[in-house]
This record gives sequence, structure tokens and C-alpha cells, in this order.
Amino acid sequence: MDNSLDQSGSKAFFLDRDGVINIDHGYVYKIEDFEFIPGVFEACKIISQAGFKIVVVTNQAGIGRGYYTEQQFNELTSWMVEQFEQQGVAISEVRFCPHHAESGIGRYKQECFHRKPNPGMLLTAAKNLNICLEQSVLVGDKYSDMFAGANAGVEALFYVTEAELEVKKSDFFIRCQSLHEAVTLFFD
Ligand SMILES: [Mg+2]
Ligand SMILES: [Zn+2]
Repeated sequence: MDNSLDQSGSKAFFLDRDGVINIDHGYVYKIEDFEFIPGVFEACKIISQAGFKIVVVTNQAGIGRGYYTEQQFNELTSWMVEQFEQQGVAISEVRFCPHHAESGIGRYKQECFHRKPNPGMLLTAAKNLNICLEQSVLVGDKYSDMFAGANAGVEALFYVTEAELEVKKSDFFIRCQSLHEAVTLFFD
């Protein structure tokens, strides 16, 4: 993509959902199981005020595995977006991939360019919202998130982990304990 002609291109924070926005209880699809991680709203306000869009990119193989439906996912997503709106935060887009190459049932059983670590969700959102990926940021809690970001050309990658693991030389991302910490580190 040639960004030189694209002065109006915006920047985004790409956020994984489970483990970044809400506590990852595993295949969360009910409102009652959706627990916002402390500091998320505050972090997102800082992101918005800095002029970045917020895009959620989430693998949802639970749909493909038949644990819940796309409609149930969409209902939870509407509720989640509304909670952000009530806090004065606009979520520009929520993208999900329901597929799984081995465990998907029926039409959901497929390799998908949108399933992280593939970059499809980020590339599609970037196209839709005119986002410059190089200047964007990704926050996730799995290596697949980091690779999705790297594969899409996002340079600032934050890996949320509670474990105080030794930083490896091969790490191409920055470790942090929460979205809030990622935001603090990025804007410092
Ligand atoms: Mg996650
Ligand atoms: Zn997919």
C-alpha cells in the first residue's frame, strides 16, 4: 500500500478481546461471563483522545466448534460496544473469525486468512477505516496476536502477560501486564 498519497490515513489500536478487554474465562459468549479488566475504559479514553481509532480483532473458533452461534456473539458484541459508549469510548469496528481448520464444524472447518496469526482481520479493518498499519498498535495476550500484527505490518506490538518471564532476545514485542500498561508505555 502506498501511504504517501494518503495524508488522511488514521491510526488505530487493534485490541484482542479475551484477555485484553475482558477476563479470558474461555469461550465467553454470555454477558454474565463478560468481566471487563480493570483500567480498560480509562485506557481506551486515552487512546481515543490521542486520535487513534479502536478496532477489536478476535478469533472466535467457539462459533466454528458449535459452542455458541454468530448471533450470540453479535448480541454480546452489541452489549460490549454499548458499555464502551456509555463510558464515552467509540469502538470503530469489531472483527471476528469463526473458523477453525481442524475443529470447525461444517462450513466453519476451513483455513482462514482472517484467523490470527493471519493478518486478514487487520488488513480488512485498515481498508475499511483508512488506517495506516505501520503507525498503528496491537495489543494481545497470545503469540498468535503478535504474529497477526507483525504479518499485517503493525510495528508496535504489546503482549499482555501476568507472568514475569524473562525477556528473550527474539522478542519482537513489548511485554506488559494490561492494556492500561500498554497504553501508558506507548504514550510515555
Ligand atoms: Mg486473547
Ligand atoms: Zn475466518
